[in-house]
Amino acid sequence: MYKFREASQGRYILSIDNHQEISMALAAFCREKDIRSGIVGGIAAIGEATFRFLDPATKKYVDKTFAEQMEVTCLTGNISRKDGEVYLHLHVTASRRDYSCIGGHLLTARVNGACELYVEDYGLDGVGRRFDEETGLNLYDFQK
Ligand code: FE
Repeated sequence: MYKFREASQGRYILSIDNHQEISMALAAFCREKDIRSGIVGGIAAIGEATFRFLDPATKKYVDKTFAEQMEVTCLTGNISRKDGEVYLHLHVTASRRDYSCIGGHLLTARVNGACELYVEDYGLDGVGRRFDEETGLNLYDFQK
């Protein structure tokens, strides 16, 4: 599903295999390394992706799938836990064949080429998430 090297304590280079789904593979890596909080970033070539937009007026998510080849020009996000499970908050910008860009929350993306990420484990526990009624978001919830 992926290959990795530890660059230094808690800092990883992660290569997700071709045809794998990025969010799923990244979550599996976080479980393998027991990463409870951290950051992730990187680049990729993908063949299909589903992005998400939260409409603040309705607090409803609008998801859209793009079935086309794209360059992930920037994937950035963070790692925490919600109810004990790995919780990824990922944003993405991807360029199309005509060099225009689209973006949003990254829900899923299938690698079609390569996916090269870095992951930094903060080594910190107690970085959770709780649902916030006002915004409709799962906001950070820091426990001492
Ligand atoms: Fe977000």
